[in-house]
Amino acid sequence: MPFATVDLQDDCGIMDGPQIHSKRGKEKEVMKNECIKKRKKTPKDYQPNYFLSVPITNKKITAGIKVLQDTILQQDKRLAKAMVGDGSFHITLLVMQLLNEDEVNIGTDALLELKPFVEEILQGRNLTLPFQGIDTFRSQVGFVKLADGDHINTLTEIAETAKRTFQEKGILAGESRSFKPHLTFMKLSKAPMLWKKGVKKIEPELYEQFINHRFGEEVLDRIDLCSMLKKKQSHGYYHCESSIVIGEKDRGEPEDAELVRLSKRLVESAVLKAVQQYLEETQNKKQLGEGNSAKAEEANQNGKGSDNNRK
Ligand code: AMP
Repeated sequence: MPFATVDLQDDCGIMDGPQIHSKRGKEKEVMKNECIKKRKKTPKDYQPNYFLSVPITNKKITAGIKVLQDTILQQDKRLAKAMVGDGSFHITLLVMQLLNEDEVNIGTDALLELKPFVEEILQGRNLTLPFQGIDTFRSQVGFVKLADGDHINTLTEIAETAKRTFQEKGILAGESRSFKPHLTFMKLSKAPMLWKKGVKKIEPELYEQFINHRFGEEVLDRIDLCSMLKKKQSHGYYHCESSIVIGEKDRGEPEDAELVRLSKRLVESAVLKAVQQYLEETQNKKQLGEGNSAKAEEANQNGKGSDNNRK
């Protein structure tokens, strides 16, 4: 992921981890709101460290990109380190800066708020994204393009809505350049050593066979809030803080709220069972104890000494 190199001046001290944790209740809330008011405008040169990702999981697409990458590597092995791993293919919808746990939580809330807006934009329809052809950003970043069509407008509307939703929560989000959906398969910045070796651009001959290749279609069904910096997951995808599933009702998957209700019910019934078991055991012990003292009483009355009951 990209990084601007200019320092971000955060004039709201409460955004720093240790300070925000030391504030309590209302005071903390008031300071946070103050800061949100101050931070409405996103500076052009802040450093994003989180992003909203649409994961690309269609095997046909990932296999096609693998063939593309191998074709390039057959022509120039040095580019191996510049290739993006197939577990992390994605489309970036929005970049943002989240500086501590509290801000990540605000980001998670914003993502949840985004879900109904996305569903409103889609109006119950699937958003199918057809990938076709190759392009680069300044010959430095190689990416698979989206084929022309209305899906680009819809995805752009979703990206703009996401930007608004996150900015309205006080999050530094977005870029000054316009949204251009792209599926990156290589970038020279992944391998700075290449520059020293004389590899300064991605030559068009390397990918000319794929210039109009149809890679396949991906249906938008998930948006993830991912970290650019945290260790990636074992399968190669980014560390996710939270996700929303789009149009899950049609696919018969439970809603988030339903999942929460379900897990609450499971915990409740487990606690209930444990309490019942405890009560039964205490009851049994009590009965056993009463039985023994009744027997002892009887034995005493029959003239038997307590020594006879000891083992
Ligand atoms: P991503 O696949 O989103 O990680 O982006 C790969 C690279 O492309 C990053 O270094 C971005 O800074 C760069 N990039 C993304 N969008 C644009 C754009 N519209 N123009 C130029 N570069 C871009």
